[in-house]
Amino acid sequence: MLKTRITELFGIEHPVIQGGMQWVGYAELVSAVSNAGALGILTALTQPTPEDLAKEIERTREMTDKPFGVNLTVLPTINPPPYEEYAQAIVGSGVKIVETAGRSPEPFMELFKEYDVKVIHKCTSVRHALKAQSVGVSAITIDGFECAGHPGEDDIPSLVLLPQAAEALDVPVAGCGGFSDAKSMVAALALGGEAIVMGTRFMATQEAGIHQNVKEKMTEADELSTNLMFRTMHNTARVFKNSVSDQVVEIESTGTATFEDVKDLVAGQRGRVVFEEGDLEHGIWSAGISVARVKDVPTCKEMVSRLVSEAEEIIDGRLQSVKA
Ligand code: NAD
Repeated sequence: MLKTRITELFGIEHPVIQGGMQWVGYAELVSAVSNAGALGILTALTQPTPEDLAKEIERTREMTDKPFGVNLTVLPTINPPPYEEYAQAIVGSGVKIVETAGRSPEPFMELFKEYDVKVIHKCTSVRHALKAQSVGVSAITIDGFECAGHPGEDDIPSLVLLPQAAEALDVPVAGCGGFSDAKSMVAALALGGEAIVMGTRFMATQEAGIHQNVKEKMTEADELSTNLMFRTMHNTARVFKNSVSDQVVEIESTGTATFEDVKDLVAGQRGRVVFEEGDLEHGIWSAGISVARVKDVPTCKEMVSRLVSEAEEIIDGRLQSVKA
């Protein structure tokens, strides 16, 4: 058993969290993760309306009686969603764990506190983490530069960012970005992390509702398989390297590109087709550098059990043996 303040806080068996993933975080995956003793997280904006989110929360409840949460990400979007209504759907459905991301959770904290919701805020810098702590979040996920999606603009990898955050904060910190297996999990614990948050690794599981072609492609990837786009627009996103993300990077390299110049290429609705139909070149899809470490497509239960038992072996075996 690996016990931390985060396993205690969320009432979970293992210090493992499945981070919110647009077009991936559906009830099947989330319930499988929670049933495996980790924390599954639904993605609010993957549901077309707040009413659909409430139904997805119900569907998840039918598949697990373990704790799970909902991710609410506030970032630039092509069609801005009614965030306040999504937040109301979350609290109205009785969900007690929320992962906020994208910007300060401050506008939602009064509502979440009123409903006794524990907030784990995901951010990419120590200064944002301190701000979130000051407005009352229960925990922080610190996103290193390796992460999928939006790693921020500071480019600090988890090896430095996680201990910096853990030392600066009083609330417990989970490491995100680069974590995918027992070796990286033990490293996160050594760095002061009290859990790991994984997205990419959970995409390559049996229960993730994305096309088999995507999962197989992930098992063939290496550490050079991602692209950073939107660098010039201060909304950097790490995505899988394919012909579409290559094209976006090339357009941006002119130095004068605006979002309008890449909008049709990057639309989330196109990326969604990749996941649903398995056409890997149809659009943009997120992946972290840890995709290099994805070698198979197990069930969530197999993956989490293996992760925890191998982590314990490293702690009891290798780490003990190097001690003189
Ligand atoms: P979308 O189709 O609205 O936009 C596609 C991409 O373009 C997103 O990365 C978005 O941030 C970016 N974008 C939109 N308008 C922009 C602008 N004016 N300037 C610069 N960049 C802009 O997004 P979607 O796929 O429907 O996703 C919905 C939300 O979920 C977005 O906020 C997106 O950023 C977020 N998301 C988060 C992650 C993550 O890692 N946390 C991963 C995927 C998507």
